[in-house]
Amino acid sequence: MPSFTFVSTANAVVLRGATPVFVDIDQHSLNIDPNQIEAAITPQTRAIFAVHYAGFPAEMDRLNQIAQAHGLMVIEDAAQALGSTYKGRPAGSLGDIAAFSFHETKNIISGEGGAITVNRRDLVERAEIIREKGTNRSRFLRGQVDRYTWVDIGSSFLPGELVAAFLFAQLEQEEVIRQARLALFGRYQNAFADLAQQERVVLPWHSDDVTGNGHMFYLLMRDIDDRDALIGHLREAGIIAPLHYVPLHSAPGGRRFGRAEGDLSVTDNTYSRLIRLPLYLTLGDEIERVIDVTRSWLSANA
Ligand SMILES: *Cc1c(COP(=O)(O)O)cnc(C)c1O
Repeated sequence: MPSFTFVSTANAVVLRGATPVFVDIDQHSLNIDPNQIEAAITPQTRAIFAVHYAGFPAEMDRLNQIAQAHGLMVIEDAAQALGSTYKGRPAGSLGDIAAFSFHETKNIISGEGGAITVNRRDLVERAEIIREKGTNRSRFLRGQVDRYTWVDIGSSFLPGELVAAFLFAQLEQEEVIRQARLALFGRYQNAFADLAQQERVVLPWHSDDVTGNGHMFYLLMRDIDDRDALIGHLREAGIIAPLHYVPLHSAPGGRRFGRAEGDLSVTDNTYSRLIRLPLYLTLGDEIERVIDVTRSWLSANA
């Protein structure tokens, strides 16, 4: 898995008693670099995790090919990628299993919560059992057994009805929400196009194989000082522009539970240069103030 991700990707592995192995990301897509994966594979390896950073799907054909050659599963961390596509197919349908997040920071939210999509028929029933406290209650509800009982490991992974209703209303509006966010993403992209041309900043990049969902907009600055100076300037203007992901391989938890393969220099470099600009559904024309403040600082510090 990439090291440039949220802790949940690694926790999912550690909680099952396995070891997350961190490999570097591609400097353009900021997704796992397929060229780094094979060196990290050992006889113990079980799965390749793709994290669709900023909502742009990873290079799934390459990952699936590598997985197939080594008998591994492919898990998509599609937490940020609801509504995105890869070669016309939706994120979450591109590997064996995928996880979405409905955390309050995502495009569609239930406060806390998420969803799993299972793309292999042979795993569907096991997923139902795991989410129902390890029981076969789903079979019972379908009338396939006359009582339900404990059959496997599991926990309580179902949303309550209030949460489900709150979430469902947004899922019905997913297209509208995504288009609105993509419009904001596009405004940022246009606003900084000339500065990207002049190589003052680097903007989000994606291959022609993928479409995004407007989850996030970021700038890659020259170096950590450049990044921190802009973050400070924006903060003084009342604009919160966070950095992203202290790389997991250098975090205390990552050092304790994981292993790094290679030097992960692209990950470290990306961490030190990336800042996220505000992008949320109700941002509206306030985006112009964010653009103005950011642009004038970039020009003054050319
Ligand atoms: C938000 C996020 C998660 C975690 O989602 P939770 O619902 O908080 O568990 C995992 N991975 C990535 C890449 C995320 O952005």
